[in-house]
Amino acid sequence: MSITVKALQKTGPDQPFKVANIERRDPRADDVVIDIKAAGICHSDIHTIRNEWGEASFPLTVGHEIAGVVEAVGENVTDWKVGDRVGVGCMVDSCGECEECRAGQEQNCLNGSVGTYNSTDVDGTVTQGGYAEKVVVNERFVCRIPDALDFDVAAPLLCAGITTYAPLNRWGAGEAKNGAPKKVAVLGLGGLGHMGVQIAVAMGADVTVLSRSMKKEQEALELGAQRMLATSDEDFFSDHKGEFDLILNTISADIPVDRYLRLLKARGVMAVVGLPPEKQDLSFGSVIGGAKVLAGSNIGGIPETQEMLDFCAEHGIAAKIETVGIGEVDVAYDRVVSGDVHFRAVIDTASFADAEVA
Ligand code: NAP
Ligand code: ZN
Repeated sequence: MSITVKALQKTGPDQPFKVANIERRDPRADDVVIDIKAAGICHSDIHTIRNEWGEASFPLTVGHEIAGVVEAVGENVTDWKVGDRVGVGCMVDSCGECEECRAGQEQNCLNGSVGTYNSTDVDGTVTQGGYAEKVVVNERFVCRIPDALDFDVAAPLLCAGITTYAPLNRWGAGEAKNGAPKKVAVLGLGGLGHMGVQIAVAMGADVTVLSRSMKKEQEALELGAQRMLATSDEDFFSDHKGEFDLILNTISADIPVDRYLRLLKARGVMAVVGLPPEKQDLSFGSVIGGAKVLAGSNIGGIPETQEMLDFCAEHGIAAKIETVGIGEVDVAYDRVVSGDVHFRAVIDTASFADAEVA
């Protein structure tokens, strides 16, 4: 037995999205069934379904920024009840027993965490993501959405929020240095970047947005950034050498990494979250000089995701979104890639109700 739900599905990287019926497992004793109200479009969905990160498993439904309401719970579930406002991010299972899982770092599970889509589940099936009416998830991978946050502006927090919060937190964006706020640069003002700006500002950092042009300057300032700089300016790299304590790199495409590392102060940190499809060029000299740190960061664990949701509610932070219907997702993808979305496209799943299965 399983639950049949409507979902947006692609049968290949170049095929359009179509509404299809997909099967969700019948809830196990420790599962939660969620009626999805909103699903964010992350650039990772695009990299995955366009085979930019390797061959995906088709037919596939993506989406790992999920917000909705608990519709049913398995018999052993005690933390969640019908009607709860909840979210699901990039993971839906992990072993729960290894050192990393026990430390609340399920994304680093030593036995491999199960991704929300395009991942092999414990029962051997390929997981299907959140561009759908409902999802069935192990209760440990569910977070509570504070009442202060509407579903559509909360959904992007489940990936873009935690992916920026975790490295900003880990590298002390909010800690003062020599009595002054740290100078944090957010590189790329897209879905992740616009969350990173708001979170770093709320942590108390002095935030500069580094964007290709000054087109989004007004919005960057409205998000709380102190300033914006255009990386395309002729003298940009020489004028801002050695300026930042921390750079949060959210860029989805190839960049001259060495040049950006020179923007750091001695012992400064570049935390990389953007994952372009191609390998990037790096000279070790760029981190050896000035004893700089080049660090990666992959989403965040479930306890920290809950902490981030509560932090956002407390500080009045939410995603700035454009709502798209289920028929507009292919167009939205092209707009994301061209940097045209301000700043996250979110699918209104209510439109599944009247949609015909193709
Ligand atoms: P997005 O909304 O498309 O934002 C990416 C930003 O990168 C754009 O807004 C743009 O900023 C900049 N950019 C794009 N193309 C560029 C180019 N050719 N040269 C220079 N800058 C360029 O994407 P997103 O959803 O925020 O995701 C960003 C990246 O993070 C993706 O690679 C995604 O897969 C990855 N990601 C990683 C994790 C993780 O756990 N590490 C989690 C989620 C996503 P400007 O327009 O301001 O220049
Ligand atoms: Zn994502």
